[in-house]
Amino acid sequence: MSHTVYLDHNATSPLKAEVKKAVIYAMEIEGNPSSVHGAGRKAKRLVEDAREQVRVAVNAPKSAQVIFTSCGTEANTLALNGVNPVRVLASATEHASVLGARSDIESIPVDAFGRVDLGHLQTMLAAGDGHALVSVMMANNETGVLQHIEDIAHLAHRFGALVHVDGIQALGKVNVDFLSLGIDMLSLSAHKIGGPLGVGALIASKDVKLQASNRGGGQGGGLRGGTENVSGISGFGVAAEIAKSELVGMQNVKALRDHLEAEIKAFAEDATVIADDVERLPNTSFISMAGVSAETQLMTMDLAGICVSAGSACSSGKSKSSLVLKAMGLGEDIAKTAIRVSLGHTNKKNDVDHFISAWKDLYQRQARKSQNNTAAV
Ligand code: PLP
Repeated sequence: MSHTVYLDHNATSPLKAEVKKAVIYAMEIEGNPSSVHGAGRKAKRLVEDAREQVRVAVNAPKSAQVIFTSCGTEANTLALNGVNPVRVLASATEHASVLGARSDIESIPVDAFGRVDLGHLQTMLAAGDGHALVSVMMANNETGVLQHIEDIAHLAHRFGALVHVDGIQALGKVNVDFLSLGIDMLSLSAHKIGGPLGVGALIASKDVKLQASNRGGGQGGGLRGGTENVSGISGFGVAAEIAKSELVGMQNVKALRDHLEAEIKAFAEDATVIADDVERLPNTSFISMAGVSAETQLMTMDLAGICVSAGSACSSGKSKSSLVLKAMGLGEDIAKTAIRVSLGHTNKKNDVDHFISAWKDLYQRQARKSQNNTAAV
């Protein structure tokens, strides 16, 4: 019997069983967390427990503000618009939810791996006067490349700037430690860690003066009015706790990812694995098959029952060539032929072997096609 091989965990990572249990339990509670009666207090308890679970999962200080949102995009939007900076600097490889949050973002140039160029950042910070916000993602959603957040935060603070980190892809794959990173704000999203879709959080140090996105109702400490998504939040809390405790399991995921890349590189000399020689997420592989469009590869994989994507899948189903790769200075030949494979807690070696075999088949078919075309000329 054919089954789906799901290798798109960076788009969304399937719900974990313990999370599902927590979500169903919370859905059966009758109260509104703002009600003072017993049922309301029970719902409120779930929200407060989840707030603590999320805070602890990223080692944010006890005094930190943990504001639940409807998704990671909303958390990023709140961070970029809630502190009223004079300038906002963000790396050129940020997710669309950051780059689209404001129209006045100044783009920090990146190196050939998509990492913030500290020299450029220093020049930009030194050139401005007034209160700046620097927003940089911890791990890139397409390439998995990790930024040097501690160095960025240290530099930004020297110039009196605030630092926001989009930690949405990093959580559950590498250790995310708010205190050691030395940052002021951190965005998270539940569905990237086996939690429910449609719930996120912004964590901010107590000294960050945030302005509310929704005022009415006064929920979320007055910063995010509206009745809380109790079941989603409760599931997020459990997912965050598991993500922290299962981090060691990422070693197995990394071994599968490394096996996949080694097989492909040994088979096709002209395959490119993007940024494979710098620090990356252990689950992510962004691979270009020379001369074959990402769209053709995705369709072929889909027919073989394999779910992968062409870079970011979070932008309403579109499949364009990667802006991240372009910002890294890579040409269209690579940007238009790269697909992202992102592994996670559901995957076994068979899944990866199924992908490898489908990839090799397509490669060979394309090679024969180009040989025939050359012979016909
Ligand atoms: N930031 C990054 C790095 C992402 O990868 C994503 C989603 O893929 C988001 C933000 C947006 O998160 P959400 O889908 O919860 O809105």
